[in-house]
Amino acid sequence: MDVPAARVVYPEDDRSAVADAVTEILATGAMTLGPRTERFEAAFADAHEVPYAVAVTSGTAALEIALRITEVAGRDVVVPANTFYATAAAVLHAGGRPVFADVAADTFALSAATLEAALTPATAAVLLVHIGGLITPEVDAIRRLCDDRGIQLIEDAAHAHGCSYDGRFAGSFGAAGAFSFYATKVTTCGEGGMLVTASDRLRDEARIYRDQGKGSFLTNHHVRQGYSWRLSEVHAAIGEVHLRRLKEFIETRREVADRYHVALAGLPGLQPLAEPPGCRSNYYKYMVLLPEGVDRALFKSEMRERFGVRLPGEVYDLPLHHQPVLAAYADGPLPVAEDVCARHVCLPVHSDMRDDEVDQVLSALSAVHADLIN
Ligand SMILES: *Cc1c(COP(=O)(O)O)cnc(C)c1O
Repeated sequence: MDVPAARVVYPEDDRSAVADAVTEILATGAMTLGPRTERFEAAFADAHEVPYAVAVTSGTAALEIALRITEVAGRDVVVPANTFYATAAAVLHAGGRPVFADVAADTFALSAATLEAALTPATAAVLLVHIGGLITPEVDAIRRLCDDRGIQLIEDAAHAHGCSYDGRFAGSFGAAGAFSFYATKVTTCGEGGMLVTASDRLRDEARIYRDQGKGSFLTNHHVRQGYSWRLSEVHAAIGEVHLRRLKEFIETRREVADRYHVALAGLPGLQPLAEPPGCRSNYYKYMVLLPEGVDRALFKSEMRERFGVRLPGEVYDLPLHHQPVLAAYADGPLPVAEDVCARHVCLPVHSDMRDDEVDQVLSALSAVHADLIN
């Protein structure tokens, strides 16, 4: 049996709960911006110990809304080079200029130093990405740097459902945090997003932006250049039911990660990204650096062809300043981001991963390690 790269875990009981919810939504005709959305928002805010959450159509929408509220148009926004295209695309859609920054090798995230090197007199905002579910321990230093310069810190927490640092959850460090419920994320509703914030003003603005910039639900006065960013009630129901599993999913994923840590300690040359003290990752991704000179494509194909272990996609293989469509914003080399993008692989982690699947990954790893690395 193959170990798949990823698996959507939506248990039977949850599927019936969603079926009941859909029946109710269709019977009542409350299809959008209704009680299911409010419940999903309240539950998500609760799970992250933040005061407010505003449900939207995607993680990209949540980022764009946070950036529009910050009025980044015509100004610079710092984006780490090793993130998903959407992080930079949201800046462009909001009228800003992405400025790509390097990252620290031990967290794959911005550090205060790499951020400082990317600041310009026109910097309006910084997008801190919790890559793979890891919140950098420099998050407080980064926040201080932003506060000192009057720059807005926004978290791209698309990977970071339920992650914490120092007991504080993803989404609580910046002025706003953007989560995604795209099908691959730790909890999903197929397509969807959530903006979280502690600010009444940002919450109110986000509600205006997501509904075509209307000043209020009942009027036809458009006070902002919003968009059709409302989440449907059906999506909210799917997301809310799935969210109830978040704690148990993270526990399972962390148990898998623990087994990987132990085994990798005996495979010199394969270097897992360690979880720094105080960090609690959801292991959206389990990242491992290969030694220099090892052919990643060959490593992955050996794992797949000989052992049936499919490795999920990297986070990410091509840094943003090397993406063709973003070439106009590339400005010089970013050596650490380039190196980690080129050299890491991600091991499969599923929210219901079984011990025999972990065993299969580990025996594949040790065989491929013996062939390609030792
Ligand atoms: C998935 C993802 C997004 C975008 O989320 P969508 O819901 O697909 O729009 C943004 N940033 C990162 C880092 C992501 O992984």
